[in-house]
Amino acid sequence: MEWIAVDGLRIGRFPALGAMAAELSLHVAARPGGASGPPFESLNLGGSLGDRVSNIRENRRRLLAALGIPARRLARAGQIHGAEIAIVSRGGLYRGVDGFATRVEGLALAISTADCYPLVIYSPPERALAALHVGRMGARRGIAGRAVKMLRDRFGVEPAYAIAAIGPGICASCYTVERNEAMRFPRAVRRFAGGAWHLDLEAHVVRSLLDQGLERNRILSAGLCTACNPDLFFSHRRDGGVTGRHWTVAVIRPPGSPPERWR
Ligand SMILES: [Zn+2]
Repeated sequence: MEWIAVDGLRIGRFPALGAMAAELSLHVAARPGGASGPPFESLNLGGSLGDRVSNIRENRRRLLAALGIPARRLARAGQIHGAEIAIVSRGGLYRGVDGFATRVEGLALAISTADCYPLVIYSPPERALAALHVGRMGARRGIAGRAVKMLRDRFGVEPAYAIAAIGPGICASCYTVERNEAMRFPRAVRRFAGGAWHLDLEAHVVRSLLDQGLERNRILSAGLCTACNPDLFFSHRRDGGVTGRHWTVAVIRPPGSPPERWR
């Protein structure tokens, strides 16, 4: 992940995407540059966490301005730790879903996280995009695999041509779970170390994508742990449940749209 400073914000992107799908704009907002105070300092984009509504509004405004996205063209997911995925064609809040898919250019899909993984899947031939919130529950319910199937069934996507990008999330060293929870996951993504069970959610996402036919070299990873990097990220686990949220924002840029300001 490469970081760009824009208007005081720190915005991450995947450099490899430029050559794979130049029309896909995908960014991760880090903590700096927002209006919120402790424990939400400072670019908290999540609502209903205890932060002031005026701060959240201002933070969202700053991010969308930096990314050049009109607020009415932003779609958000309710994110209830399920595996429902909606096909969307306009902005707004989609309650009851943890992911959405679209072929509409210029429609931005935002996923909100603080330890869970944001996952974006894009297929250049069909210009089909999905953005998902993948936590432990969503992973267990197979949301990543469901998204690939949906892209295939609804948009004719051939998984071998699809690209996936996994944003920052909690690493296996930081993510301990109860034994009975660990046992619900395949052996390859759980381990017992230091007296506790650990889950590797990112490895689980990668396995799910490979199972659905994606190519390993087309799965990109930010490789950054939210809990290990307090300067950059909020972490629900590290911060004891009282913390902010990041947004990962994906949009298919319409042909002929002006270049991003930092390109
Ligand atoms: Zn970590």
